[in-house]
Amino acid sequence: MKLRSKIHLYSSVLFALLLVLMSLTIYYLFSRMSLNSQLEQTRAAGAKIAAEMKKAAGNVPESDMLRAYVPAAGMIRLLGQDGSGPAAVTSASEQELSRVAGVYSASSRSEVMKLAGGTYAFVSIPVVWHDGKVMNVQVTENLDSTLNMLRVLRLVLAAVTLLVLLPLLISSRILAGLIMRPIVEMTLTMQDIKQSGKFRRLELDGRSKDELVEMGRTFNEMITLLESNYAKQEKFVSDASHELRTPLTVIESYASLLKRRGLDHPEVFLESVEAIESEAIRMKELMEQLLLLAGPKEQWNLDMAVINLAEVAENSAKAFRNAYGREVRVHSDRAIKGYSDEAKLRQLMFIFLDNARKYSDEEIIIRLEISGRESCIRITDRGIGISKTELPRIFDRFYRVDEARVREDGGAGLGLSLAAEIAKAIGARIELESLEGTGTTVKIWIPSESREKR
Ligand code: ADP
Repeated sequence: MKLRSKIHLYSSVLFALLLVLMSLTIYYLFSRMSLNSQLEQTRAAGAKIAAEMKKAAGNVPESDMLRAYVPAAGMIRLLGQDGSGPAAVTSASEQELSRVAGVYSASSRSEVMKLAGGTYAFVSIPVVWHDGKVMNVQVTENLDSTLNMLRVLRLVLAAVTLLVLLPLLISSRILAGLIMRPIVEMTLTMQDIKQSGKFRRLELDGRSKDELVEMGRTFNEMITLLESNYAKQEKFVSDASHELRTPLTVIESYASLLKRRGLDHPEVFLESVEAIESEAIRMKELMEQLLLLAGPKEQWNLDMAVINLAEVAENSAKAFRNAYGREVRVHSDRAIKGYSDEAKLRQLMFIFLDNARKYSDEEIIIRLEISGRESCIRITDRGIGISKTELPRIFDRFYRVDEARVREDGGAGLGLSLAAEIAKAIGARIELESLEGTGTTVKIWIPSESREKR
């Protein structure tokens, strides 16, 4: 069964049940109240008649007394324990009642009962008669008028139930449609996306703020995210293939030069082999960076611990000095600790140190300090710097400020985006300040202790 039909069916059945239950309760309470009040009236009238008959007993013939007190629609009877007493007197409309035999009762009785095919209020009151015997004064009164009123009430309640049920059924159908419309639209949109391969969004009522519009808005946001991720992915693949094409072309041209003239000209041979080697190294670095960026971060196997940052900085500086012969000075007045993964932090520092090396000629300075609950590693160079307009974009993949100057050093514009990914994985924060022509400072903020401990 479709969700729309289910909502319609369940809500209709529930509404109908509630309505019927409500009508039945009203009818039950009202009928009990009416019959009880009618019985109470008959009981009060019976008590009064019994008192008056007792007063007049012995002076007025009993059958006359009965005739005087007979109800407008009913019967009155005087009954002794042994069944003695005058014949019962009935009103003209209730002569059938006289055929019903009287039943003596030692105590007062009042009840609604069915007699001779009708419903009656029956009251029996014991009275001590003038001759010392105990007699029952029994009054039986027809309840037709009350029953007629209850019949009308039944009809009214049934009619009202039906009348209310009709708009309820229609409104539950409309409600089911209202709930289902955005869901149906969403399903159609998703099917359309699947078939056409193009991203599409739902048309939403901008004014409404209900949950369904909210769901549609979330769906649209999700589609926007998917679309931008898809676009980024496409750009990444095309950028990567473009980046790889350049070194491959260089290698290809030097290889063909080697083939043609390499054997006869040793200087061409040497130049070609060097160029091929440096392009191969560039390609290898590029591939490594690409694999790190594209691969799943869960497989990085982080080993987070509280480590000595001064020691890590000193070791990195030493390794860098040895590899590139560039002066790197570390300033740290005490043992500064931080919660991080040592290998990944070293990789992060290498990216910034490498940039400082590529874009400056003077000494590079590493400074360590503590600020609140964080430790900071500051890497400063006095190089060419980055202009204000370029700063927001340098963390984008494959973004290079100046293509010409980078080609000489071999950067592919992936270093900083990789740094951002590493920082995110180890819970570090990066701030980059730069002034064109003056130099660049990178701050790596590292939590002093594990976040769970705080
Ligand atoms: P690359 O591998 O090309 O260096 P990065 O992502 O590391 O790529 O850096 C992006 C760009 O930001 C670089 O091309 C460079 O122009 C600029 N840049 C990064 N660090 C520095 C720095 N310390 N000084 C000047 N420019 C920098």
